[in-house]
Amino acid sequence: MQFEELEIIEPIIKALKEEQYTEPTSIQEKAIPLILNRFDVLGSAQTGTGKTAAFAIPILQHLFLEREQNTYTRKIKSLIITPTRELAIQIGESFTTYGKFTGIKNTVIFGGVSQGAQTDALRRGIDVLVATPGRLLDLIDQGFIKLKDIEYFVLDEADRMLDMGFIHDIKKIIAQLPTKRQSLFFSATMPDNIVELSRKILRDPKKVDVSPVSSTAETIQQYLYYTNKSSKKDLLFHILRDQKIDQVLLFSKTKHGADKIARNLQKHRIRTAAIHGDKAQNQRQKALTQFKAGEIRVLVATDIAARGIDIEKLKYVINYDIPNIAETYVHRIGRSGRAGEEGIAISICEPEENTYLKDIEKLINQKIELVKDNPFPQTEKPMSDKEKKEFEKEKQRKKQEFFAAKNKTQNRPNSSKFSYKKR
Ligand code: AMP
Repeated sequence: MQFEELEIIEPIIKALKEEQYTEPTSIQEKAIPLILNRFDVLGSAQTGTGKTAAFAIPILQHLFLEREQNTYTRKIKSLIITPTRELAIQIGESFTTYGKFTGIKNTVIFGGVSQGAQTDALRRGIDVLVATPGRLLDLIDQGFIKLKDIEYFVLDEADRMLDMGFIHDIKKIIAQLPTKRQSLFFSATMPDNIVELSRKILRDPKKVDVSPVSSTAETIQQYLYYTNKSSKKDLLFHILRDQKIDQVLLFSKTKHGADKIARNLQKHRIRTAAIHGDKAQNQRQKALTQFKAGEIRVLVATDIAARGIDIEKLKYVINYDIPNIAETYVHRIGRSGRAGEEGIAISICEPEENTYLKDIEKLINQKIELVKDNPFPQTEKPMSDKEKKEFEKEKQRKKQEFFAAKNKTQNRPNSSKFSYKKR
């Protein structure tokens, strides 16, 4: 399915194309038509399923179409409540990205920082407000925000919100919303207290459920190497000695790790590029184009960076580490063996990841085939709980030491390269 088939307007389609979103995710395919048709929605979906775009796209579309009518004045017409500052920022960024060609403005407000920049943005006028509950109520109390014009209300990550003790704040916010509105309610889990809360907010909602993926394509052969953390690098070279592996998408848990792997492979004259969130869009695009053109043999990617990319006829995927969320494994290996083509997924597992592997095998309901020809077998054991605690303590201590040293240099008079010299 294509986004166009969901009857999304051109300015939004254009932005999605720029983001290289080719197809809607499952929650988008289900929720967008319902929201465009003005139903309230009760969505059961986790972060990572594309749920932000599932509500941001139709809200932007409603507002854009309203704006095209001459009578439109800029007021806060949509409110999105989310539990954390990080999520709020991400949601704001999504509205900015997908709404790039719509002229719809948003701002994000959250606590823990001074309110000046936030109230300035509110004064300039916005259509969409993304907020954490505490700061929102605070700015309402101070008279900076009124909720009387809200037409589209979203409560995001409701279960986390209740876990964090926001129930009273949420009730206060709901009490101030106009009764005539469209409401969308998202939660990863649906225990009784969440369902009860949803009843207070939604009217005749349509239910949308995206259960976590659990099945891997039968056309993908899966292989596994157990090794030690310190041997992963060598084992990777051993695997890549097989020239049949002409092109491979290699997953790394972290951005830093991705860069490190890429540097190592480049040192060994293996044509490699890394893509992750810290790389500029044009760098990512260049790496991808080169990979597609066969100029690069290994493309190292983090899970998030890889999500938006689509590589046809990719045969090999390597998991340089084992993801701690089993569904992520299914997503990763699903990058190969698309559309019935043959795919091969190779996973490298260090002792600390052994338990993740058990979760994966349970989820996919099969045992992954162990590779016998392994010159770097796993000889070390996972840490015991006590060892893990000590390791974490030591890590914390080193971190504190590092920051203490950094603060010391920063506080030293004239330590800056650009310190002001009195004449
Ligand atoms: P979310 O579940 O909203 O946190 O989204 C997870 C990630 O998926 C974000 O990085 C989005 O940019 C990305 N994403 C959302 N929808 C799509 C899509 N249709 N195609 C590709 N990537 C997407």
